[in-house]
Amino acid sequence: MTAQILEPGSVLGVLGGGQLGAMFASAARRMGYRVAVWDPDPDAPALQLADYSFAAPFLDVETRDQFSGTVGAVTVEWENVPADLCEWLARHHPVRPFGTVLRILQDRIHQKQFLQIHGLPVAPFAILESPDQLPNAISDIGLPALCKTARSGYDGKGQWLIQKPADAEQVFPSLSASTRAGHRWILEQFVPFERELSVLVVREPGGQCRTYPAVDNRHVHGILRLTVAPSSLPAGTTTHASHLAVQAVSALNSPGVFCVEFFHTSDGNLLINEIAPRPHNSGHYTLDACTVSQFEQQVRVLCGAPIGDIKLLCSAAMVNLIGDEVRTVTSGQGYREVMAIAGAVLHLYGKRTIRTGRKMGHVTFLAEEREIAEERARWLMNRLV
Ligand code: ATP
Ligand code: MG
Repeated sequence: MTAQILEPGSVLGVLGGGQLGAMFASAARRMGYRVAVWDPDPDAPALQLADYSFAAPFLDVETRDQFSGTVGAVTVEWENVPADLCEWLARHHPVRPFGTVLRILQDRIHQKQFLQIHGLPVAPFAILESPDQLPNAISDIGLPALCKTARSGYDGKGQWLIQKPADAEQVFPSLSASTRAGHRWILEQFVPFERELSVLVVREPGGQCRTYPAVDNRHVHGILRLTVAPSSLPAGTTTHASHLAVQAVSALNSPGVFCVEFFHTSDGNLLINEIAPRPHNSGHYTLDACTVSQFEQQVRVLCGAPIGDIKLLCSAAMVNLIGDEVRTVTSGQGYREVMAIAGAVLHLYGKRTIRTGRKMGHVTFLAEEREIAEERARWLMNRLV
C-alpha cells in the first residue's frame, strides 16, 4: 500500500513562529501549501507569512482546537514547544517529529543519557539535582567544565563556564536563584575541540535517511557565528560524523529533519554535542547552495512526499547578523559593500526589535571554492566588529 501524501493546497501547521518557522512557511507556500503558524508572541516573524495565524499561549485549549481544525499535519520550529500538545495533536494529524523525540531532546540530561545508552560518544557529564551538588560534580568531571541548565537553554544561554574552583562559588548563586521545582543542571567536561561541525539528517516516515554534507561551525559566546560548507576536515572524519548522525537519528526513530552537532578534538575524536529535531541555523546555507533546502525537506517529510535528492551546488559560508550588526549590513555604505560582493545573499528575518544576542538575519556567500566563500565571510565578520 502506498502511504498517503498530503498534496499542495493542504494546510501545514507549524508550532513556533521564529525565523525557522518563517523559512518553513516560505518553502511550503512556494510549493503550493497553505500554512498555519502558532506562536505565543504576536510579533513572531512567521506570523507575517502565515495564511492562518494563531498568537496565543501554547496551553490555550481553544486555540489548540482551532489550530487542529485548520491543519492537515504539524511540525515544530524548535524543540521546546510542549510535548503534550504535540502528542494531543498527533491523535488527529501526522506530527513530525514525534512528541516522544521532543521529550528526549528538551532535557539535556535525557538527551545525553539517550546518546550514551545507544553507544554514541558524548563528553563526560554529571547530573545536578540541586546546586549544592556542584562541588561533587566538579570532583567527578574535573575542570574546566560547563554547567548548563537541563532545560530551555539556547544560543549559549543558561550556561556557566567553570575554569577554576573559585568560579564555582560565583556560579552557585546563579543556580540557587532558580526557584523552579525540579530544576536540574548538567556539568559537562569542557571539550578542548579544534573544530565544531554539524550534519543535517533527513529521515522519511519509512526510516530511510539522507544526509547533507558535514559543515564547519564557529561559535562566539555560545552563538553560531560562521558556517562553512562543505567541511574542510578529511573525508574519513566527515564520513564518520555522517554515520554517527544517522545512527543517532535512527535511534530517535522519528521522521523529520535533524541537525547533529559535533566536537572534533585534536586527537581525532568526534563527540556529539547535541541534536536539534528541526532545521538548524548551520543549515541555512542549504537555501542558496543546495538542490533542496532543509526547509523544503521539512515540508516533504511532513507531507509524506519523497525526500529530495541532496546536492551541494557550490561552496558556501554563512555569517549570522546578531543584534545591532544588522544595521551595518542594511544601511549606508555597509549595505552597498555587501551587495557588491559576488555571491552574497542577504536574508533578514523581519524582527521588529533589535536585541543584544538576537539573530536578526544572515548573509550567505556562495563561491566555487570554499576558500573564497570563507574569505568573503571573514571580510564581513571583520566589517561587523
Ligand atoms: P544552540 O541550541 O543555539 O546550539 P545551546 O544553548 O543549546 O545552543 P550548546 O550547543 O550546548 O548550547 O553550546 C553552545 C556552544 O558552546 C557550542 O556550540 C560550543 O561552542 C560551546 N560548548 C558547549 N558545550 C561545550 C563543551 N562541553 N565543551 C566546549 N565547548 C562547549
Ligand atoms: Mg548547540
